[in-house]
This record gives sequence, structure tokens and C-alpha cells, in this order.
Amino acid sequence: MGTARFPLSFGSGMRHVIIGSGPAGVVAAETLRRLDPSAEITVIGDKAGFAQSTVRTASRSRGALDETPSCVRSDADHLARLRIELRHSRVKAIDTAACSVTLADGRVVPYDRALIATGSRPVRPAIVGIDLPQVFTCWTPADAQAIAAVVSPAAHVLQMGAGFIGCIAMQALAAHTARLTVVEVRERMLAHLLDDVAGGLIRRWCEDQGVRICTGRRVVAVTRSGERLRAEIDDGEIIEADVLINATGGQPNVAFLAGSGIALDRGVLVDAAMQSSVAGVYAAGDAAEAIETGTRRRRVNAIQPDAVEQARIAALNMAGHPALLPGTFAYNILDTLGLVSASFGQWQEGAGGETAQLLEAADYRYLRLVFSGDRLLGANSVGYTEQIAALRGLIQERVSLGEWKQRLSAAPLQVTEAYLARRLLATD
Ligand SMILES: Cc1cc2nc3c(=O)[nH]c(=O)nc-3n(C[C@H](O)[C@H](O)[C@H](O)COP(=O)(O)OP(=O)(O)OC[C@H]3O[C@@H](n4cnc5c(N)ncnc54)[C@H](O)[C@@H]3O)c2cc1C
Repeated sequence: MGTARFPLSFGSGMRHVIIGSGPAGVVAAETLRRLDPSAEITVIGDKAGFAQSTVRTASRSRGALDETPSCVRSDADHLARLRIELRHSRVKAIDTAACSVTLADGRVVPYDRALIATGSRPVRPAIVGIDLPQVFTCWTPADAQAIAAVVSPAAHVLQMGAGFIGCIAMQALAAHTARLTVVEVRERMLAHLLDDVAGGLIRRWCEDQGVRICTGRRVVAVTRSGERLRAEIDDGEIIEADVLINATGGQPNVAFLAGSGIALDRGVLVDAAMQSSVAGVYAAGDAAEAIETGTRRRRVNAIQPDAVEQARIAALNMAGHPALLPGTFAYNILDTLGLVSASFGQWQEGAGGETAQLLEAADYRYLRLVFSGDRLLGANSVGYTEQIAALRGLIQERVSLGEWKQRLSAAPLQVTEAYLARRLLATD
């Protein structure tokens, strides 16, 4: 995207500034140090030390909401030993003409190359009552601890949202209370990850475990009634609850870039080198909108493995070693109250051509494969866990299936055999 306007002399004296100390920021800093022993590398993060791991919020879903949070790196001196400066401050602006960032306290830090790795934050729906103290997001380990402190076994918890974060939150909440109601605006659970059949299986599974699921509806206002909350639903129903969880999605932290000249859509628009529209400024992780494998459209792919791979590619380019991201790969594996689902690539209605599916509804099992020519383009699965690694390999690596396409059409569960035959044991 950006055209080079910097002298291509690398190897010493370069000043790299990384904004954000989450997985993308830390991996970029480590990669830069490996590539350039004499560069000046500064990581600026608005959290003291490393950002706490949001992925660990997910592992907290096993019921231990109040366990000690973990960080991206456990050793506080890790970056110092690599001669990487970690500054605790918020970047409030970037001046791409002067090549500097301005911190919240007014100090200015110059850079030769900058990386935006500021991650994402929870969406706050614009409804009356969203600021009430009984309303929580479930994003950071601190959020999880705050929820654990107020949710007793007798509490009625109302949750807005049944997407990826919502299902993680449900798993944690179900371990703390038996009274859980979920209101989701889309027509099914996990609508941006799973099709109707898969979303329906997850819903029935949750309902069988006592969770009330209301889809196609939204909370429009929340008021206090004594110590309790009264949530008004758009069909007129009033739901009383003790706690409201806002799990309505995430959005990239890019507001501070307004007026910088850096092209934005949802996140920072980057090319395959992870460079933004401004030369010398890169982005990676949840703040970046990178090119997707297959569709070649840009998307924010908010998963940690992608964040760190994007960061690695950005760092290589920042250090003068040209590298391209083959594309972000959409995949999610999720455990919802003990039922595992997976979503890979382009699984949506209308994507690809032929499909093959296997449904064992009584056992909550489902597998749907989407083909494009003799390759797998995407898949949804519920309840099958042994096939997940092979599915990911076949789709992400765009493996040519040859005669295995016909076999998978007849017997979709044979994906592991197909992967072994066509990828691992292939001799041609
Ligand atoms: C509840 C939850 C569970 C998840 N579970 C999984 C999972 O199981 N598997 C998975 O792969 N992914 C999971 N994810 C997604 C994963 O956490 C993210 O993809 C990953 O953290 C992205 O890393 P990042 O470095 O881009 O951003 P972040 O981890 O968000 O780090 C960015 C940091 O930059 C800071 N920052 C923001 N603005 C500024 C500024 N102006 N100045 C300075 N610092 C700033 C932020 O406060 C933050 O500390 C989960 C996310 C959530 C919320």
C-alpha cells in the first residue's frame, strides 16, 4: 500500500516504535530484535507491563473466573533482557509527516518504522442503561474477576450476544449460576461462524442445559428496579436480572488514528506486507484489516495465531526483509458448555460449489464440507473433534483432493484419511 519513502539502509540505528503490548506487539518486538541486534525498539502499552491475555479469559470459562490472570510473557524482565524498552503509556496520536507518536502525557517519541498493534475492545451498544454498575463486559481477565465477584448461584444473569465471546462467557457463567438468559439479535447463535443447522444444534444443546436462548431479539433499554435490573426487549418482554453481560462483539482500537492519513475501514487497512497506506507504518493483530486467503477481501481476523503471524511478517518488513502474508485464514474452534464446534474458511451459503454433509442431530453431530473444484473451501463441524486438525490443514493449505473429493462427498468423516493421503504421504 504505502510507497517507500525511506532510505533502505537497515541494520543499525533504526528506531522501531510498537504501539500495544499484546501478543502482536510483543512478537513483533522479539522478531525485530532477532533480525536487528542494534535497532532501538520501544513498545508502548497502555497496560502496566504486558497486556493480560484475553485468551486466558477463555480458559477461565472452565469455571475458575477468579484465577490469577496470565500475561503474554510470564517473565516481567523478558523485554528488558532483549534491550527492548517497554513504556507504560497511551498513544494518543501519530504524526505520519513528522514520524512521531504523541503519548497521553504529551511526550513525543520519534520513529523510523511504527507498528500499530492496539488490538480491539468490546462494542458498547447505544442503549439506555448500558453504564449501570450491574452491566459488565467479558473481555479481559479483570472483567472475568469482576463478574465472578457479583454472580452468586442464585443470581439471574442476562447476556446480550451469542457470538464467539458470548459463548465463552456463557460457559463461565453457567458454572456460577443456574439462571442464565441469552438475547441475540441474529436469527441463530454464532451466526458469523456457523450455518443454520450447526447454530441450531448449539442452541438446543444450551437449552437442554437450562439456558434460555432468545434469538432474533434485542435488548433496547435497561433500568434499575431496586437492586435488580429491568431489561426491555424489542418485542415488549421485560426480563428482570441481577447482572447484565454485554457480549455484543469487538471493534479495533483505531480511533486515535483519525486525521493521521492512515487509511481505515473497521481496522487499519494493510497490504500483504502488513504495511498501511502510509509508508513505514505497519499494523498487525486485531487492529489490522488484512487480506483474507481465498476471497482476497480485507477482514479483521481476531484470533491470536493470526495476530502473531501478522506481527512476524510486519516485523520482517520493518527490518528490511521483504515478506508477504499469504492471507489471513478464518477459523474458530469453540467449546460451548462442553459442545465443540469449528468453523473454517468460506462455509457460507453460496460459497464454493458442491457441498457434502453428515447430520446426526440426536447426538449433536454435524459436518458440512464446501468444495471449490477439487479443493475444500470451508467447513462447519459440531461434535466431531478428531477431524478438526485435518480439516484445517486441507482448507488452509488448499490441498488438491484428486480422487478423495468423491470419497469425501460420500463419506465426509474421512477427512483425516484424505489429509494423510493427499498431503502428508503424497509423493508427487
Ligand atoms: C474473551 C476473549 C477470548 C478470546 N479467546 C481466544 C481464543 O481462545 N483463541 C484465540 O486465538 N483468540 C482468542 N481471542 C482473541 C485474541 O485475544 C486476540 O486475537 C489477540 O489478543 C490479539 O492480539 P493483539 O496484540 O492484536 O491485541 P490485544 O491482545 O488486544 O493487545 C493490544 C494492547 O494494546 C493496548 N492499546 C490499545 N490502544 C492503545 C494505545 N492507543 N496506546 C497504547 N496501547 C494501546 C490495549 O489496551 C492492549 O493491551 C479472545 C479474545 C477475547 C476478548
